[in-house]
Amino acid sequence: MFNNFPFHRVNWKTSLFLIFTTLFALVGTPWYFLAFELTTQELIFQLSWFFFFCVATIMSITLGYHRLFSHLSFKAKWPVRLATLVFGAASFENSCLSWASDHRHHHKNCDHDGDPYDISRGFFYAHVGWLLFKLDPMPLQNNVNDLKKDKLVMWQNKWVHLIGLIVGLVIPPIVGYLFFGAQGALGMLILTGFLRIVVVMHCTFFINSLCHTIGKRPYNSDNSARDSGIMAVFTCGEGYHNYHHSFQHDYRNGVKPWQFDPTKWMIWILSKLGLASNLRRVPQEKILLAEMREAQRLIEKKRENAGLNQDAPQEACAARQRAEEVLEGFASTISDLYATVEKSLADKAALSKAKLTEIEGDIHSVVRKISQFKPVLAKAK
Ligand SMILES: [Zn+2]
Ligand SMILES: [Zn+2]
Repeated sequence: MFNNFPFHRVNWKTSLFLIFTTLFALVGTPWYFLAFELTTQELIFQLSWFFFFCVATIMSITLGYHRLFSHLSFKAKWPVRLATLVFGAASFENSCLSWASDHRHHHKNCDHDGDPYDISRGFFYAHVGWLLFKLDPMPLQNNVNDLKKDKLVMWQNKWVHLIGLIVGLVIPPIVGYLFFGAQGALGMLILTGFLRIVVVMHCTFFINSLCHTIGKRPYNSDNSARDSGIMAVFTCGEGYHNYHHSFQHDYRNGVKPWQFDPTKWMIWILSKLGLASNLRRVPQEKILLAEMREAQRLIEKKRENAGLNQDAPQEACAARQRAEEVLEGFASTISDLYATVEKSLADKAALSKAKLTEIEGDIHSVVRKISQFKPVLAKAK
């Protein structure tokens, strides 16, 4: 029956860890609540620690491993880096260095060979299957040279399993024992230890599976990444994955005011506390341009499907193309202007007279482009 099973390719260490933590969580949790009668005080204690560890470890992945280390979307002082590396280790999702390397490969080769969690190989593969077998070929860690210079990252890379064990599975039972004896220790081991590890791991796995399956693609339909408000709730804001794949260096994933992105809020709070800086944002007009392009593409697809494309007047098509070019020029000029002014502010250097004249010229060119845009729009009607 198992003659053809590729046992030699099984990643035993990870597979056994995933199987046993899942078993301990699924069997241990109901057993604990049935075997022991918990007082209200004890229940609140257990649930509070469970919740705290869930948030601390998920945020360490989304804010630390992902947006800070993988994408360099902001800079953080050492206490933030240390905290996210320590609690990140307790999420048992491997070291930050390996995680970031895999993730950078994912963005570079999304949906193709070279994407470690390629969704085109199936939902299960992208969710957890890629961890159960040794990847063939193994992704090279040749894309994280910048992180290799970070002493904290390299320290965590060396001791990740020990740190994870102490923080995630040893300290919680000790705290439980100090307050509620052996019963408290057991509860902390099962709930804050194993159950929390399983819940947090699957929340992260959802980003690679569900966030490439469920939701809309308002910014770019060239790849499988999708935006989903529901997924954002389970992933601390990472559910706006289509935006993230379109603008991966933005510290925000949910850019609209109504979108739920606690990781973005936390980064913003840290910046106000002086613990984070250089928060990278994509200019609003670039985001709008991407949305317009995608909407346009959708309309064209619908027209094509309805067989209307041949009937479309050529002139209108050309006008639309021209309108797009003008808008694109408009957006990039504005972005350049932002960049110039931001750089001058960052350098604390006064703008020279020549630079001011150059900016003035750029503004005139934008105004000219806008006036060109009017007749183009009239033709497009
Ligand atoms: Zn993705
Ligand atoms: Zn990413």
